Amino acid sequence: MTYRTDIEIARDAKKKPIQEIGEKLGIPSDHLLPYGHDKAKVGQEFIDSLDDRPNGKLILVTAINPTPAGEGKTTTTVGLGDGLNRIGKKAAICIREASLGPNFGMKGGAAGGGLAQVVPMEDMNLHFTGDFHAITSAHNLLSAMIDNHIYWGNDLEIDQRRVVWRRVLDMNDRALRDVVTSLGGVANGFPRQSGFDITVASEVMAILCLSSDLKDLQKRLGDMIVAYRRDRTPVYARDIKADGAMTVLLRDAMQPNLVQTLENNPAFVHGGPFANIAHGCNSVIATKTALKLADYVVTEAGFGADLGAEKFMNIKCRKAGLAPDAVVLVATVRAMKMNGGVAKVDLGAENVEAVQSGCPNLGRHIANVKSFGVPVVVAINHFVTDTEAEVQAVKDYVAEQGAEAILCQHWAKGSEGVADLATRVAELADSGVSQFAPLYPDGMPLFEKIETIAKRIYRADEVLANQSVRDQLRAWEDAGYGHLPVCMAKTQYSFSTDPNLRGAPTGHSVPVREVRLSAGAGFIVVICGDIMTMPGLPRVPSAENIMLNDAGEVEGLF
Ligand code: ADP
Ligand code: MG
Repeated sequence: MTYRTDIEIARDAKKKPIQEIGEKLGIPSDHLLPYGHDKAKVGQEFIDSLDDRPNGKLILVTAINPTPAGEGKTTTTVGLGDGLNRIGKKAAICIREASLGPNFGMKGGAAGGGLAQVVPMEDMNLHFTGDFHAITSAHNLLSAMIDNHIYWGNDLEIDQRRVVWRRVLDMNDRALRDVVTSLGGVANGFPRQSGFDITVASEVMAILCLSSDLKDLQKRLGDMIVAYRRDRTPVYARDIKADGAMTVLLRDAMQPNLVQTLENNPAFVHGGPFANIAHGCNSVIATKTALKLADYVVTEAGFGADLGAEKFMNIKCRKAGLAPDAVVLVATVRAMKMNGGVAKVDLGAENVEAVQSGCPNLGRHIANVKSFGVPVVVAINHFVTDTEAEVQAVKDYVAEQGAEAILCQHWAKGSEGVADLATRVAELADSGVSQFAPLYPDGMPLFEKIETIAKRIYRADEVLANQSVRDQLRAWEDAGYGHLPVCMAKTQYSFSTDPNLRGAPTGHSVPVREVRLSAGAGFIVVICGDIMTMPGLPRVPSAENIMLNDAGEVEGLF
């Protein structure tokens, strides 16, 4: 049997005009700002008018630790949204926008897959509505204004060795990781070392995704630390007087984008912060808008539940006053096998034993999610190579953990394949059993927050940090930043900081290499291991196979 590629399926979609999708949610068409026929931004005035409405139920889709076998969180998010609509519920989905850079490398799309996709997928994976370009421009405006300030006399007494604000580009370009700026003579300023990050790693992206409105956005932009003086006091974006102009550039980007699934159900696609040095969720404004307009909102967090769900709960929900009503934990038979030690090339063969020995990874995520007080159901994202015995092994294991696993076939069948999960999720969300609470209180000292996550989520024995890290955390507490949550940056492949340690490791320690203050976004980034903020392209980038066909359509984008 041969299957159509994601882009072939997406191209055949029977899309409806975006106004009809808006109508499903009761958005009057004059409050939709169309970008072509199949994308629109939702007007700010309309969003403001929703304040008094009750909220729908919030459902988070997360997963086990990712493996190269692929898990399918976005695919399941989209499938579940369609599934809920299929069983007669008014549901919307909220996912992130795609970073353009990785699409030309090796990542694969961000719009779901198979019969569970958001369309137009080419647009979503390329320029979309221009939000990321706006973020890139706002970020680089600030960069230019910092160097310009230094050039014209440096009244703020910025220590040129301590400018922490870099530049960004939405491209995988390792050549720009470390650069020297202002070469070429007196007229070009003072040479200094700097570098480029990918746009999704910009603090501006994290801020856009956490801000409640434009006013909040501008305040947070002003709060960003861009440099330090020789006496180590911080210089803020506000001091550079960049916050106003940046807000102007970001005005339209702040409005959520509405598109549709293959089954013509509403999907908000907005924002896309990194899941390591940022929190990895779509925007607060999109989630809150969706909750006012739909009875069920299905959203996704990046990476596995140890990173994605933890940050969704401890950062996004805490900051935005949101509370999930149910969590869906995506697992695949293939990933269980890889966690059980099978190599990628051997995944095709039935191996119930390996499935069983990989299951403790899933078990720990189930227990972790429950520790936030939220009910959880496991979605087994079915691959055609999975055997019945393997699927049963996962179901049996999950039942032993006091939870339920439901086989889902949305990738192959669309909403029809995910009706059971949708029914169960709606029941759980409606049951009111969720008693969500973040893992730690705002007032806990910063180092203890790190320890709490390391011990309770990663099940590590200890956190290792040298004196300079501990001193830095204490200095931020003294400077009034102690109430902030911590944003963990570690490998997504393991509960530990060693990517090769699959399954459910214990007895490990978590070394903290560095801590960074994102004062505008409102969190302390805790870096454990190597974190890349500007990816490179692989030896054979997918860009080599992306082109327009004779009909002018995009080929090779997955
Ligand atoms: P995640 O959000 O967890 O990163 P995605 O949902 O984006 O994962 O899926 C990653 C890739 O795996 C996509 O290309 C998608 O088409 C593919 N995929 C997902 N589920 C299945 C499945 N059940 N069978 C085959 N391929 C799948
Ligand atoms: Mg995804």
